[in-house]
Order: sequence, then structure tokens, then C-alpha cells
Amino acid sequence: MNVDEHAEELASTLGVDKSEVKSDLEDLLSYSVPIDEAKQSIRRKHGGDSGESTAPTAKGVSDITPEDGNVTVTVKVLTVGRRSIRYQGEEQTIREGEFADATGKISYTSWEDFGFEPGDSVTIGNANVREWEGEPELNLGQSSTVAVETTPVETPYEAGGDTDLVDLRAGDRGRNVEVQILESEERVISGREGDTTIRSGVVADETGRLPFTDWGARPELREGETFRFEDVYVREFRGVPQVNLSEFTTVTPLARDVPVNDEAPRMRIGEAVASGGMFDVEVVGNLLEVRDGSGLIERCPDCGRVLQNGQCRTHGDVDGEDDMRVKAILDDGSGTVTAVLGRELTEQLYGGTMAEAMEAAREAMDKEVVADEIRRQVVGREFRVRGNLSVDDYGANLEATEFAESEDDPTERATALLGEVTA
Ligand SMILES: [Zn+2]
Repeated sequence: MNVDEHAEELASTLGVDKSEVKSDLEDLLSYSVPIDEAKQSIRRKHGGDSGESTAPTAKGVSDITPEDGNVTVTVKVLTVGRRSIRYQGEEQTIREGEFADATGKISYTSWEDFGFEPGDSVTIGNANVREWEGEPELNLGQSSTVAVETTPVETPYEAGGDTDLVDLRAGDRGRNVEVQILESEERVISGREGDTTIRSGVVADETGRLPFTDWGARPELREGETFRFEDVYVREFRGVPQVNLSEFTTVTPLARDVPVNDEAPRMRIGEAVASGGMFDVEVVGNLLEVRDGSGLIERCPDCGRVLQNGQCRTHGDVDGEDDMRVKAILDDGSGTVTAVLGRELTEQLYGGTMAEAMEAAREAMDKEVVADEIRRQVVGREFRVRGNLSVDDYGANLEATEFAESEDDPTERATALLGEVTA
């Protein structure tokens, strides 16, 4: 059927003038609304129901797949995050967040301002489905339509975006958190458009702690202060989720304290590694091996990389700076991780300062004596490590902030392990 025939059919079933129907139909089609949706919308306009073939072209959220192309959905708006991006040379404000209905929720990006807010119930017409990190995502653009629904959409998900830190994941948009600032520092970073001043540090609430970056470098974000941040987004930085404040984020001082939990969540190594990266986690494992490149090392003065035979991978032959570190492999039966200890923790393990370590190396005329001494003290023993876990193609690294021999009772643990095995 062509447009004329569709208009003819509609006009006769609805009992209205064909030219009017045809003009409406052509309008809708010019916005790339699929023909079935366009006809449905005209039927609704003239008080008809959606026709005898009542199979809705509209989809439940959980039924949407990246193969769908374009869809119509009736949803509740859960979150609306605003972000400024550079697109084809132009500064543009986009809106991102999540929609939900009774069947599930879905992320969206809107390139136009349709004016919807968290909590609104809307029907989105002609939303384009794209795949983003393996999941379908809705894209709203010029050819999409948004109509407000007067009947609220039922959904098990809460609208508004208030979230505990422990529940934030990379990719989250339009979230609100209430936090205490634990660390905060102004920094200047160099980028394509010259130097930018930012503020970064660590925030915490009752459930956990996360690094943050404020791209607006707000001076009031001082250590010990408590705030409500509205409209933050989360992205992965060096393998862990990071809270980002943009120009659209509102920052309000809180009258209340935000109690902070000093303990990091204790996890099995396998479980922590499977999460893909965590900020501030604690594991306990057997120290299997102290890897090469531990003990006394030299770093490139330009980039900080550890030198191999006096050479930096990037800067070649350089005058190295002395440092100490330990890379130790820990295993708890569920997985392995490489704990990376900086100078201070390494000195503690060695039982002496770096100056003393260098003196020992000079006497023996061999730097390796330092690593060997550390090996002698730690291999085969069990340690509790707290730090930031990053996972990449080369393995899992835990940048240690605390490293201590485990105080767990080995008998108790053996019993627990036995329980796990026989359960
Ligand atoms: Zn270098």
C-alpha cells in the first residue's frame, strides 16, 4: 500500500476526511515515524482505538534488542544527567540516563532537549536502538517524539537518581550522592585546549569510598566537609569507577554528618578480580612469589617508569632515580593478584630505610640482595592487603595502601575452607 491507500483506509474506518488524514500521515512519515505507528497515532487522534490488529508496535523495555532499529516505548524517566560534549567541532549539551517500565530499565542518550525530568511518564516515539558495551541503548534525536503520559508508568525502579557510593558503576549518569570529602587537591592538567584546573580526591559515605574529579575545580570541596552532589556521572579511570562533577552538577553543603566506614570491603580474590576493578578493597592470601623488579629499582625521571638495564622504554638512556617497591603474587584459592607496594611499605617489609638498603647493596656489590632479603621474610606467609584493584589484559594489580601479615586464625580458616569444600 502507498500513502494514498493507507489514508483511504484510515479515512473510511475513522469516518473522517481523507485529505486531512493524508496530510497528517505525510507529516509523520517525514519525521521517519514508521507507517504502523503513524496510522496508530492518527487513529488515536480521531478517537479510534489502535485498530483491529491490536498487537502493539510499542515494546516492553526488556524486549528491546540492538536489532530493533527504531522503537516506541512508554516509560518512566529514572534519571536525567546533563553533559557537555564536543561533537563535530561544536559544544553540545546532551542528556543521558535511564528509562524504565514494568519489565526492566534501559540507558538512553538524548541529543535534543525534550524537557522531561526524573519521575515523568512519557511515550518516546521513533527512538533509535544502538548497542553500547553489549547492551541496547536508546538514542533520541531530531526525528524522535516525546509525549507526556497522564497515567504514571508502573516500574519497580526508583526515579530520581539518589545512589549509595557502593552501587555506582561506570556509565551511570544523572546520579545524586551525599558524601564527605576525605581528600581534595587542586591540580592543573594539560590537554588539547591548553591547561585546565581541576579538583580531585576521594569522597566517602556509609557504604564506601570512591575517587572524584571536579572539572569545575570548586574551591569549597575541602577535606572534612559534607555535600550533596546532584547530577554526577561515573566513568572508569585507571581501572576503578570515578565520580565526575561537571558544570551541570549542583553542590549543596549538608547540615548533617556523613559517617564514614573506615574498613574496606573484604573480598575473595577471584570475586574482586571478576568485578573488573575496585577502589579500596581488602583481600587475604598466601604470598607465593616476589616478582623480578622488586627491591631496589630505578625510575625514569621523566615518566616514572621502572628502568630495565638503565633504559626507559620511552626515553631511552636516562639518569635513573632510586626507589623501592615490591610486586608480590598472592593467592587465596579463588584467584591470584599482584600486590604492588610503594617505597614506604617496602621499607617496612625490608625492615630498613632505602639508605640502609642501598648500603647493603653496595657492600654486596649486588642490588638483588635487597629483593632476596624481602623474599626470605615473606614468601609462604599469609598477608592482608588493602588497596585499589585494577584489572587489564596483563592481569590484576592491587596498589597496596596497607599490607600486613594476616591476623586470621589459621585453624578457624581451615575449618571454614573445609566447610566450603564439603558444602
Ligand atoms: Zn621515561
